[in-house]
Amino acid sequence: MRVNKKIGYLAILILCFLLLQSVSLANSLVDSWALGMEKGIGFSNYQSITTEKTVVQLPQAQEKDLHNVFRRLVKNCKRNKELNFTITVVRDDDPNAFALPAGYVFINTGLLSMVKSDGELAGILGHEIAHIDRYHAMKALYRSVGYSMIFNLFLISHHNWGNTQEMSALAGASLRLSQLGYSRKAELEADRHGVEIMEKAGYNKRDILNFWERFQRQNGDSSKGLTFLSTHPAIRTRIEQIKKLP
Ligand SMILES: [Zn+2]
Repeated sequence: MRVNKKIGYLAILILCFLLLQSVSLANSLVDSWALGMEKGIGFSNYQSITTEKTVVQLPQAQEKDLHNVFRRLVKNCKRNKELNFTITVVRDDDPNAFALPAGYVFINTGLLSMVKSDGELAGILGHEIAHIDRYHAMKALYRSVGYSMIFNLFLISHHNWGNTQEMSALAGASLRLSQLGYSRKAELEADRHGVEIMEKAGYNKRDILNFWERFQRQNGDSSKGLTFLSTHPAIRTRIEQIKKLP
């Protein structure tokens, strides 16, 4: 009887172990599928933007400096191993920067010309890297198309969903969302995490505060129509939040 009980416990233990294994296997399968989807969408969006806008090659020293700052920041974000982060400068007078899924960061010449130091640049790029690090574009996409559609896609496409119609539809939706900008909550989170990234990389949050304060003096508290300098939250709120960070 006692032996039977022991065998029973052992069987339950083995079952629990197998169950946990299969749950973690299922999780890693879903994670790798979701990462593949993010990369597919990101690359498709990157192609659309670089076709639509003029990519600018900066003078050699400035280009080198931009990439150095960017690399330092990327090294200090969480997703630097799984994504290939890139920075692209595009000709556009709007003071704007934006991030696409899977590590594609863009900065407009209009914003670049307003930047006075590497630290300010690190603050702006850190904010964009933070959006990617915290999956903001993908979360917005999931909310927009619905989690059930994503789950159905997972069931039908499994490993290989490269150039399917669904993929094109999702990439289109993602591109439209990236033009709308993120929610107030996501912007404030990107500000906090962006400061964390820039400080880990050896920059001081004072630099991004300098940028915001100068911008506020010149343009007031609102910056309607611009994604990076979005209308919500107000610049004042962003400055106050960054100042309060430890
Ligand atoms: Zn943002």
